[in-house]
Amino acid sequence: MTISHLLTHPCKNMEASLVREVLHYSQQPDILSLAGGLPDERFMPAYPDLNALVDSRQYGASEGENSLRDHVVSIVAGRGLTTAADNVLITNGSQQGLDIVSRLILDSDSTILTEQPTYLAACQVFKLQGAKVQDVVSDAQGMSLEALREAIDLYNPKAVYLIPNFQNPAGHCYSIQRRKEIAALLDEKNVLLIEDDPYRELCYEEVDLTPISSLVKTAPWLYMGSFSKVLWPGLRTGYVVSCAVFTSYLIKVKQASDLHTNRLGQAMISHFLSSGAYPAHVAKLQEAYRQKRDAMMAALNTHLGDLVEFTVPSGGMFFWVKLPSGLSSKLILEEALKEKVLVLPGIPFFPCKSPLEDSFLRLSFARVSPDDINKAVAVLAKVIKRLIV
Ligand code: PMP
Repeated sequence: MTISHLLTHPCKNMEASLVREVLHYSQQPDILSLAGGLPDERFMPAYPDLNALVDSRQYGASEGENSLRDHVVSIVAGRGLTTAADNVLITNGSQQGLDIVSRLILDSDSTILTEQPTYLAACQVFKLQGAKVQDVVSDAQGMSLEALREAIDLYNPKAVYLIPNFQNPAGHCYSIQRRKEIAALLDEKNVLLIEDDPYRELCYEEVDLTPISSLVKTAPWLYMGSFSKVLWPGLRTGYVVSCAVFTSYLIKVKQASDLHTNRLGQAMISHFLSSGAYPAHVAKLQEAYRQKRDAMMAALNTHLGDLVEFTVPSGGMFFWVKLPSGLSSKLILEEALKEKVLVLPGIPFFPCKSPLEDSFLRLSFARVSPDDINKAVAVLAKVIKRLIV
């Protein structure tokens, strides 16, 4: 049976996902995986007593539970973003936030600008709307200001999508200077900012994480957060905070999508936040992940020394490793897999074709023990050295 005549144009053009193929191998018990972006379940708090939360059986509000929306207001206020609960939409993870926002603003003739590289599942969402995704050169400080100015003038984009803190995949964290410059440019050009901030609590250094959304003065903005990296990703709970003009539209799209986010999950997260245990929990996570980050830094330095290039991320879950020139990330994936180590080539994180795309690996330290990180990087180094000669 053929169904291609039934599919929308964007769905016909969906590419096979390299990530899916790669992650399929991580199910095997003898594989050491640095490939997935999963948090470590050993740090997830025990579930609260669900019987105390059963007041969540009936349908709820599309915008989300008021108690959780109030918590989000205080959480983002702590980050310097002042808002009212009315402007908070609870979503099924920030992934759904991206979907709802895309449905709201992207037509098939729209262009959206992203960092290069960027979060691949955001690009999938943008492309499903039929939109053109245009990447903009980025460095360790964030998106290049000059390149952004040029791209805005050239493409007249609907929005700029940024992950300023501990980005997936590159791990970069924008300097405060870059944040201010980008905010000023978006104000000058009146371009919508979509700011995606799921990793900010996984912070291992003193860095200024002021949301760019709090720095823009006149440009419209949408800010997304998530409970996936610090609490329970399986509950699929995140949020979009918007400047007031967007609020009623976002709620209507959410209503059309799935009526509302499941109430039990929202109640569980609210319950945890109300318990007062959140700050200590985040501090514990930071300590544990910092050790893993340091273990990966040490392993890369010890085993791969001057052969690869990387910047040590000040937070998040990922090292973005540039391979010795001429080496293919896909070939390394295949060869390392023979030695039971799984790594993720950087290719799918490039929204536009680039001569650089096959030259990076994204290595996640989040779910592996420091000992296993060292073992896996040692194997990776052996493979790389073998392929160089
Ligand atoms: N944005 C980025 C940058 C991510 O890395 C992820 C998860 N990998 C998400 C959004 C989606 O997170 P969730 O839907 O679990 O909140």
